[in-house]
Amino acid sequence: MGIPFLQKYRVGSYILKQKIQGNKRYPLVLMLEPLFQCNLACAGCGKIDYPDETLRRRMSVQDCLAAVDECGAPVISIAGGEPLIHKEMPQIVKGIISRKKFVYLCTNALLLEDKMDDYRPSPYFTFSIHLDGNKERHDTSVCREGVYDKVIPVIQEALKRGFRVTVNCTLFQNETPEEVAEFFDTVTELGIEGINVSPGFSYEHAPRQDVFLQRSVSKRLFRSIFQEGKKRKQPWRFNHSSLYLDFLAGNQNYQCTAWGNPTRNLFGWQRPCYLLVDEGYAASFRELMEETNWDKYGVGNNPKCANCMAHCGFEPTAINDTFAHPIKAMRVSLHGPRIDGPMAPDPLQRNPASPKADIAQKEFPISVVVEQKTSTSTPSSSNLTRSDR
Ligand code: SF4
Ligand code: SF4
Repeated sequence: MGIPFLQKYRVGSYILKQKIQGNKRYPLVLMLEPLFQCNLACAGCGKIDYPDETLRRRMSVQDCLAAVDECGAPVISIAGGEPLIHKEMPQIVKGIISRKKFVYLCTNALLLEDKMDDYRPSPYFTFSIHLDGNKERHDTSVCREGVYDKVIPVIQEALKRGFRVTVNCTLFQNETPEEVAEFFDTVTELGIEGINVSPGFSYEHAPRQDVFLQRSVSKRLFRSIFQEGKKRKQPWRFNHSSLYLDFLAGNQNYQCTAWGNPTRNLFGWQRPCYLLVDEGYAASFRELMEETNWDKYGVGNNPKCANCMAHCGFEPTAINDTFAHPIKAMRVSLHGPRIDGPMAPDPLQRNPASPKADIAQKEFPISVVVEQKTSTSTPSSSNLTRSDR
């Protein structure tokens, strides 16, 4: 099915209006993080290493809805932490839907069986389920055995009840194209609306630093995945623009559009994006947009951005390019991303990459084993006091 027509129409109209008004910077997706606490402790997570007093905090319903109104983006992605831990999440979702905004509730789905009755199916509401691969891969990625087996029946139940469901998949080291392709087959057969996929961002605060992919490796991996896709009778549906997929395959020389997906969390409006957590906060959305030195960020502009290909930065760029070059976008949509030939160069390096980004990664699978980690500090779902990547 892919993204429904109503959503494409509303978002397309919104972008057209911004362009007619001559707005150079405007938000597409508000990343709302009403809490940081989670009931998992994934190896590649950069959101859960806060002190306990921060993990216990929540944004109120009023603050969440004020952020939605202040920002004005047509799509709201509620992340965290684990949003289903927030006791007032049903009211937050209801308030956003009443504003005719499209809500993606990003969840690891461990609490969803118990909480599903609190929500109603709506064209404006989607459960975006964190699933990084088939059984072994996902359980390794979230550092807990048995999670995959709990999540699949919950996805089936949500689909049975008529909810929109997407799967949010992050790729890390040691993935093979065949394995990823099998996973995409599995979730496609379940009947989900679409797959969100991007290479894991090298969070400085993630418990593991050896799990992230470099850009060159990511591009080659995506070309091989799309090559696998061409062999399938049942096509995969992605929750992305065709040009973002083309970018992942190394065919577009995009710079990030960090302001396209602004982030509001417990501390304010996070500069410059959802991924960089040590760059400070703005007190208001206007301050974020007008007083952030955006030129400091992006590939080649900032060592921390060196390997970033995340959808929160580059999907807005791809969407802008779709509006500028609709025929190119349509051609990629019809034929899929190009999987051979030379790759587009990365943006010029104004600042050298950090030594950490220079770790040699030549081929996949990368010969790093992501060890199974048993976290002793992970709160169980029963003793949670309150917090995705
Ligand atoms: S490249 Fe853009 S989206 Fe990625 S970390 Fe840097 S500022 Fe954020
Ligand atoms: S990646 Fe998501 S599910 Fe995993 S610990 Fe972080 S917030 Fe929780």
